[in-house]
Order: sequence, then C-alpha cells, then structure tokens
Amino acid sequence: MKKYIGCDLGGTNLRAAIVDVESGDVLHHMSIPTQAREGHEAVMGRMADLFKQVIQSAGMQKDDIGGIGIGAPGVLDLEKGETLFLPNLSGTWPHVPLRDTITHLTGLPTALLNDVRSITNGEWRFGAGRGVDTVAVFAIGTGIGGGLVVNGQLHLGIGGTGGELGHTMIDFNGPRCGCGNYGCLEVYASGPAIAAMGMKAVAQGLTTSIGELCEYDLNRITPELITRAAEGGDEIAKDIYEQAGFYIGIAAANMCSAIGPRCIIIGGGVAQAGDLLLDPIRRTIRERVHVMPVEQVEVVQSQLGNNAGVIGVACWAAFQPSI
Ligand SMILES: [Zn+2]
Repeated sequence: MKKYIGCDLGGTNLRAAIVDVESGDVLHHMSIPTQAREGHEAVMGRMADLFKQVIQSAGMQKDDIGGIGIGAPGVLDLEKGETLFLPNLSGTWPHVPLRDTITHLTGLPTALLNDVRSITNGEWRFGAGRGVDTVAVFAIGTGIGGGLVVNGQLHLGIGGTGGELGHTMIDFNGPRCGCGNYGCLEVYASGPAIAAMGMKAVAQGLTTSIGELCEYDLNRITPELITRAAEGGDEIAKDIYEQAGFYIGIAAANMCSAIGPRCIIIGGGVAQAGDLLLDPIRRTIRERVHVMPVEQVEVVQSQLGNNAGVIGVACWAAFQPSI
C-alpha cells in the first residue's frame, strides 16, 4: 500500500510526516515555522513545498504517496474542504479552500480534519484506543480539544464539527469562555486555568512549594511546574489537580451517559501529570454515573504523544468514509 503524508498545521510550526497507515509508523518527518503572519496564501505555498521536501528527503517519489491529510486547529467545512475559523492563525482563515489549493499545488489528493479529531483518529487506530469501538478524547493544553469515536467510526457531525468536548458546559452560570459561551470545561481545566490556580495560591500566600519552584515569579508557573510540586508531596499542588480532574470528570461523566464509551483518553501536554489528573477523573465518573456500567469505562493517558495527530490524519486521508 502507498504511504500517506500527515500534516499538523500549527500556529507556530508546520509538521509533515510520511506515515505507513497499515502499521501506524512514522517513516520520516520534517518541521518548519508556520510564519502565519504572512497570511494563508504564503502558508499554503510553504506547506506544498514542505510536502515535496519530505517526500524527497525520505528518498521517495510522488508516486509512492497515496495522498495528504492536514490536521487544522479550528473549525472546518469538510464537505467544501475549507477552513472557516482557525483562531490561532493570523487572519483566522475564513473560507480558505485549503484542500483544493494543496491538491492543486502538489497533484496529490488531500483531505482535511480538525487537529484534535486527527489525534482522536490516531489514538483510536494505533494508540490508547486501539481495538475499542467507542472512545472519547479530551486533549488538555492551551485549550481543551476533543474527539469521539462512536460504534467503530470517527464521529464527524455537521462538517466535522462534532466532538468539541472542551466546550461542553459544566456550569451554565460560569465565567465567559473564549468561544462566547459561559462555563465551558475549557475555562476550568485547560493548561492556563491550571496555571492560574497555582498563581492564585502563591499570590494568596498559601504554604506551597509552587512559590519556590517558580522563584516567586508568577509568570513562570505552568501545569508542568505544578506537577513537579505535587510529585514532591505538595498538598496545594495535588489539590489543584484534584480540582481540574473533578471538572474534567464531570464532562467525562456526561460523555459516559451520552455515548457509553469503553475508553476515555486524556491527551495534550497537561496529561503528562498522569494519575494526579486521571485518578480524580476516574473517581468522579464512578461517583456521578449510574445509568451505564461505568466500572467498564477505562480512563487512560494518550500513547502516541506528538505523533498522534499526523498518524491520525494520514489514516484519515487513506481510509476516510466518503463525505
Ligand atoms: Zn467554550
């Protein structure tokens, strides 16, 4: 079978990988700065050049490649192959015909997918959700992305917009979210929300090693630093992950009732906290879900790390159902 290119279109970096979609192996990969400020035309030109380069530097020919999958960070129209709103890319890319432009520039069939749905597809096919028919993914980073696999199929919904688990509401009277709604999960448990809990604890003068670890420079507090404090036995730091895990657990409990997943995968940079974050999620779903066999739901950390998205979107390009 031909190999496929998986691309992660990020706000900072463009990454392209040649993927064996039968084994899930990344055979070769390259990364360049996105330089998003130059605008979408320039970025699409650079993407097409990157795809040609990655084929060449892998010692392959264009004929060896079956197609290209692009994971994009935002809202897409999969039917039209357009980007609608990419909040982290300058200009936000409204109605940019990304699919057809890349097909035209490279001569290779191209497919688009949201970046976290790409991660979901990768983890389901070759990572923590392998062999499981119904999966929910929460990717906890700067924001909270999500994705669903239902009955052995990546769930798309209208134009591929289904699965925004970070914008499920956990308090409809809560603080405003970047999406315009109030009380979304993302407001409570994203990386910046977790860092803010650490900043607040230090600013309030609570006894916590977070202050020493950041040398009392609040801007240096990150989820990773709070993890280090918690691993050193700091009760405040542990409590921050208890709270974040509780919030994610509430959203995960709602997903249990909605789709009956066998597996809930927690990914993104914040998932590095491991059981500090996962244990309160597990506890919360077991306490809060009574209408399905919640003891059969596994809550696990993602397995493929940075490669999940490029593997998943390469597989999407290779095996996507017709839309
Ligand atoms: Zn929101």
